Amino acid sequence: MDSHGRVLRDLRISITDRCNFRCLYCLPETEAAQNFYRGRWAHLPNSKPIQHEWVPRSQLLTFEEIARLVRISVSQGIRKIRVTGGEPLLRRDVPRLISLLSSIEGVEDLALTTNGFAFPPLAAALREAGLRRVTFSLDSLDPEIFQRMTGRDGLDQVLQSLRLARELGFQPLKVNAVIIKEINDGEIERLAEFARDENLSMRFIEFMPLDSARAWQRELVVPGREILQRLQSRFDLKPVASSHAAETARRWAFPDGRGEIGIIAPVSEPFCGHCNRLRLTADGKLRTCLFSVLEHNVKEVMRRESSDAPVASYLRKVVWGKEERHHIGEPEFVSPPRSMSCIGG
Ligand code: SAM
Ligand code: SF4
Repeated sequence: MDSHGRVLRDLRISITDRCNFRCLYCLPETEAAQNFYRGRWAHLPNSKPIQHEWVPRSQLLTFEEIARLVRISVSQGIRKIRVTGGEPLLRRDVPRLISLLSSIEGVEDLALTTNGFAFPPLAAALREAGLRRVTFSLDSLDPEIFQRMTGRDGLDQVLQSLRLARELGFQPLKVNAVIIKEINDGEIERLAEFARDENLSMRFIEFMPLDSARAWQRELVVPGREILQRLQSRFDLKPVASSHAAETARRWAFPDGRGEIGIIAPVSEPFCGHCNRLRLTADGKLRTCLFSVLEHNVKEVMRRESSDAPVASYLRKVVWGKEERHHIGEPEFVSPPRSMSCIGG
């Protein structure tokens, strides 16, 4: 529990900071991405790009260390684990990690977030290792816009991965779409239709200031309210009750019961008061908020302490200090020193 009375249940583990995509909102490091933002940068108060170096492999937590930390976290109340990145499927032998995590008693929900590009050859092994749930990122159904958003000509591959995930019984299937003005905001309705056609859950996410170029601007955010209004004027949507208080998405169903819409609006409607998340970076730092400016070196504590009790007490101490809320849009807001690809979404 933190000092604001929130009970943390959800641990998100980034297993690599590397990625095979260069999304506009995360790693906008291609010329095309820079061209999109160029001209806007002059007005940015905080426009110095993050100078990042990829974490050397020797500094990554090993799978055994990750499993140890998960075991300890579960003993302290964590129930949900999400494996993410960077692109988690780029880390060698991910099914072995999944197998270690899925056998830990007390993990009630184990999921993975991926851009889907490297999914097909690993899908069956992930399933066999005990993974039941996958979230894909898919921001556009138009091949050109997809390429502008991700820096990669990969739409067909990701669609194929989604179908394969369904065939293999991954359930429920979720898709994340970050909406950016003047790029993919024309596709909101089409993505919602796709959710119904494919009977999956489509999460529309507001663009957050977590890109490596620090190019985020509020004017590029399509507020959740606007996304909802547009969808309501096109579809007859029924609200779906949240399954738990800490749910970040407001959910809506279509009348025929196929597919679902979720709207995640951390910028325009922050949900910090219910946040139950803790994050672990690939190099073994705990983060208590996406926007934390401080990290906590749990790797060092784990490597020093052979018994689990001191690690558990360190974990409790770190969680106690979780920030009350983020300060996006306020004068004192400071962008975190690492981008989303390093923190783990
Ligand atoms: N590479 C994997 C993927 O893209 O699904 C997993 C890691 S990615 C950082 C996790 C999620 O964070 C993705 O769904 C992505 O859309 C989201 N994300 C990344 N940068 C974001 C930003 N600046 N604002 C909102 N969501 C972001
Ligand atoms: Fe890579 Fe995911 Fe970031 Fe896109 S959102 S650059 S796929 S880590």
